Amino acid sequence: MWSYYQTIFSPIGQPSSKFFLPLELKHDIGHTVNPTESRQILDRFVRQNDLPVTMRAYDGSMRFCEKCQCVKPDRCHHCSVCGQCVLKFDHHCPWVNTCVNYRNYKFFIQFLGYALAFCLWGFFTDMPYFIAFWQGDFASKQAGRFHILFMFFVTGMFAISVSCLFFYHLYLTSKNQSTIESFRAPVFTYGPDKNGYNLGIRRNYREVFGSNRLLWFLPIFSATGDGIAFPVPTYEAEADSLLNDRRPRIDTSDSEDDIEMLPNGNATARLL
Ligand SMILES: [Zn+2]
Ligand SMILES: [Zn+2]
Repeated sequence: MWSYYQTIFSPIGQPSSKFFLPLELKHDIGHTVNPTESRQILDRFVRQNDLPVTMRAYDGSMRFCEKCQCVKPDRCHHCSVCGQCVLKFDHHCPWVNTCVNYRNYKFFIQFLGYALAFCLWGFFTDMPYFIAFWQGDFASKQAGRFHILFMFFVTGMFAISVSCLFFYHLYLTSKNQSTIESFRAPVFTYGPDKNGYNLGIRRNYREVFGSNRLLWFLPIFSATGDGIAFPVPTYEAEADSLLNDRRPRIDTSDSEDDIEMLPNGNATARLL
């Protein structure tokens, strides 16, 4: 219940004020009909404010939200239901009536896990009674029988649907993808890349659940980072042979999981 509460009532992660265009630039963007010109305005704004943005729109331009008038940080998307840009947007969930995002993703997975455990507990504790009922050994009033049947089928059906969602999100976490990214690969300066944030299973889980494993099961916020800049992997072999140095990389001695960490801020500085 605590996880459910945290999922619903955690404040939605929003871009910080530095991503929003100042009044004069809003005016400039609003009055230009030339896409190249508005692209240049945004490029200049990002460079001048040193915004850690590595993702791009499909045409290679900065991702810009016309409704919020802000440059979208990496992995941020506009939610039409909430009417705002949401950090590390996953999806808008009608069951919790809010956005699943950077601030509450851990709580959402916990909620699914605990809901599944509760459904399974109800299902298996009801099972002996259901079997007794099925074999005709169960002598009880009509209302009691209905409760047994109702509990057996409802917990069973909920367990199946919740487990699909739960394991799907565990899978997405292991790949460091949000639901929206699993359907539409994030685009970087070097092109779309579904595994653009995949740091290896251990690091991917740590990014969502934090480095303290005790907190993995408690509904306490422990995600790493700030929801704005995300570490990206660099594959030495790929960088050398395939990407032809289009993808930024640094040489470090830290080679856990054969992946080097690179803060997006540095990546941006090199790209611009
Ligand atoms: Zn927006
Ligand atoms: Zn929403």
